[in-house]
Amino acid sequence: MTSTSASVADASIASAAEDLILICCSDIAGQVRGKGFPASHLDQHRRFGVGWTPTNIMINCLGAIPATPFGPRGDLYLVPADSSEVVLDFADGTPVERWLVGDILNLDETPWDCCPRAFLQRALAELEAVAGLRLKASFEHEFHLAGAAHRSGDSYALSSMRSAAPFTRELIAALGVNGLEPETFLPEFGPRQYEITVRPVIGVEAADRAVKLREITRAVAERHGLVASFAPVVTRGIVGNGVHIHFSLEDLNGAPVTYDPAGPAGLSAQTAAFAAGILRHVRAVCALTAPSLLSYERLRPHAWSAYWGNLGQRDREALLRICPLPSAADIDPAPRFNLEFRAADATASPYLQLGMLVMAGLQGIKEALPAPALHDGDPEELSEDERRSLGIQDLPRSLEQALQALDEDDVAKAWLGPSLAAAYLMHKRGEIGMLQGLDADEVCRRYAEAY
Ligand code: GLU
Ligand code: MG
Repeated sequence: MTSTSASVADASIASAAEDLILICCSDIAGQVRGKGFPASHLDQHRRFGVGWTPTNIMINCLGAIPATPFGPRGDLYLVPADSSEVVLDFADGTPVERWLVGDILNLDETPWDCCPRAFLQRALAELEAVAGLRLKASFEHEFHLAGAAHRSGDSYALSSMRSAAPFTRELIAALGVNGLEPETFLPEFGPRQYEITVRPVIGVEAADRAVKLREITRAVAERHGLVASFAPVVTRGIVGNGVHIHFSLEDLNGAPVTYDPAGPAGLSAQTAAFAAGILRHVRAVCALTAPSLLSYERLRPHAWSAYWGNLGQRDREALLRICPLPSAADIDPAPRFNLEFRAADATASPYLQLGMLVMAGLQGIKEALPAPALHDGDPEELSEDERRSLGIQDLPRSLEQALQALDEDDVAKAWLGPSLAAAYLMHKRGEIGMLQGLDADEVCRRYAEAY
């Protein structure tokens, strides 16, 4: 009797069990946070999503809120963005992971002025309205795979691919079924370091893909008993994990306009001005693209990341790198031509990263800035005066310097708007305050765990 009623209860729980679905945002900390409900209720949540709170944007990567301009007040909605559902169904009896990327809205359904995704959308809309351009972009990610096999000397080695194959196979499939169009996967230079790229896409979806890629990679790694960390550095002194943001411009008819064979190094006038805008504001831009204490452990000289605010052609240490093209008569360079921004890492929200690049580039177009100097050598070998005459700025050397540069750059602060700029500076200064005085290895460990 007892055993029969127990099995009836079990059966009814099993048949009632259903997947949960979360609506999520990528916030100032670059963390994906959200709220969930039973998946069968999704239709009821399409318009007003889930309730959200302004102070949530102040939760830092350590899970703390050292300061907040919002206090306990205010209400927002986190509302699903169209057709963006991530579904991780491994069909092996484990729960299906389902979540949607969302927009943070005010109660009157207007975008909240601190929503990172709304910031990028605003930047892209302005680029379209003012310059008649659309941005196509792709985030190239490097990560460290703790638990993966490693033998010394296996950089780029076939053996690194072989040992990671069960993970890789499932990862590529998971990215593919979620519409990310994976392009390449490779064992990188560092121990247990891998790199993954997805196809470029127009507009906000490029950043949506970056948000999804980081989470899907973490989820698949976990299934294989591995831990994927995108932290800019996981062990001090060892090569870092970069995020290289590739971008090109299209006109409103979808024609590529990045390339002009008559322009300097093949840059069209619009692209040259766009690049010049990024270089002019790069110190403030770094506050959002390389926004952790650890970001500046990666941005070191000769680490194949970026150390100077320069444009380079075949230089993997240039901040902005003009990517190479095959020089074959039967290949049209125009649709392939793209630039790469290298002073970025995964401690940032992709929306804030791309939004800043678009705003800075658009500023360059608005001011019709001339093409930046293309210096072929190592800027470190130049004198300070020579660098200045070429318009090559120092990148910030710490998060504190980057935040100071943002705070002093009224043009860049205006792109963010007063609320987001103030919240951002408060958030990041609070993070510095929490980590100050800790041993450098401990700082590294905390970030590696968070990202
Ligand atoms: N790991 C380097 C970085 O931190 C990039 C190496 C490369 O792919 O060029 O950006
Ligand atoms: Mg790489």
